[in-house]
Amino acid sequence: MKKHHHFETAVIHEGYEAKDILGSLTTPLFQTSTFTFETAEQGEKRFAGEEDGYIYSRLGNPTVSALEKRMAALENGERALAFASGMAAVSAILIALTKADDHILCSSGLYGCTFGLLTMMEEKYRITHDFSDMRTKEEVRACIKENTACIYVETPINPTMKLVDLQMVAEVAKEYGIPVVVDNTFSSPYLQRPLELGCDVVVHSATKYIGGHGDVIAGIAVGSKDFLDQVAATTRKDIGGVIAPMDAWLLLRGLKTLPIRLDRHCDNAEKITQRLKNHAAVKHVYYPGDAEHPDYPLMAKQMKRGGGVISFEIDGTKEDAQALLNQLQFLKIAVSLGDAETLIEHPATMTHAVVPEHSRQKMGITDQLIRLSVGLEAWEDIWEDLEQALDRLVKKRSDKIVSVGEK
Ligand SMILES: *Cc1c(COP(=O)(O)O)cnc(C)c1O
Repeated sequence: MKKHHHFETAVIHEGYEAKDILGSLTTPLFQTSTFTFETAEQGEKRFAGEEDGYIYSRLGNPTVSALEKRMAALENGERALAFASGMAAVSAILIALTKADDHILCSSGLYGCTFGLLTMMEEKYRITHDFSDMRTKEEVRACIKENTACIYVETPINPTMKLVDLQMVAEVAKEYGIPVVVDNTFSSPYLQRPLELGCDVVVHSATKYIGGHGDVIAGIAVGSKDFLDQVAATTRKDIGGVIAPMDAWLLLRGLKTLPIRLDRHCDNAEKITQRLKNHAAVKHVYYPGDAEHPDYPLMAKQMKRGGGVISFEIDGTKEDAQALLNQLQFLKIAVSLGDAETLIEHPATMTHAVVPEHSRQKMGITDQLIRLSVGLEAWEDIWEDLEQALDRLVKKRSDKIVSVGEK
């Protein structure tokens, strides 16, 4: 098949040829659990791998294959695998890369359930892990042990929006022959392509920007054909976290507008960042697309733009943070991100509640921190709702000062 060179074309065409399937413009939904063989001998050949073709949808399905081909092209990898959730992808990859008594080196912030998975792997299989800010090559080298089986990086780091230099980490990992796995959920391949920077495996919660419409839970892994062939034949097949055909179909549909959506998410996030920075109720704003963010030069080096997620700290208490959320008129209080709707959440009590208090403090997840997934609405409307809720906080504070003064 012809390789589509521009990203905006590949999201629409890659991995599917209409002429192969009765001219259907969109990828058909193969809602089937199994595939029939014409003869017993054909079944034997399929199982022996001597003949191409489908067997059973846990092993492969044409709608899922189309999605996998498209995602491999978009991340510039050799092969992609789709999973039932982001966590199914993360766990299949980490289990494939490690054995009992190994060590995993992680970036200093991780998605809450990835943290939970690592804790379980330590308790059950003595697979230990360490966290590193990974600011310099020396810092990364110092954390690599004899039994380090892989380096696992999230960037931007959820929810503090710090970045890790992927090319630098990949260069150090090469010295030791250790694979680098990157959770690319926050950026999507439109904004950042870790494999092009020398990393080995990309994982996604496709639930977020890839689906983009808040109606699917799904995951993706992309990397070399050799490694993903092995994952397909072992951890995905035997643990069984495969994506449903309908969900693969929804992701193919969502992907077509990925670049358009992401550009709008970024436009809106840039506008909202500037306004948050100038509001009296806000102490800090963390957005890598902001020229004053300490990692802005790194953003410009490895990402196309800053993405659609902003975190900010309010000047107040945990109760003030919760009051701010409760005061919103149409913005939705919800975890997840990357949807058309703007979503707002309180990491300390929601997405990162499973992280022990001392680790949370180290990761910069304070009670005052709020995470905003900026949606596709008009930015003026998003800001109007945020502003009235923030104004209320400022007013409450000045009322308090007055009442203290009156005593
Ligand atoms: C949501 C998320 C996950 C987990 O994905 P699910 O699809 O919910 O299983 C993993 N990593 C990051 C960064 C996420 O935001």
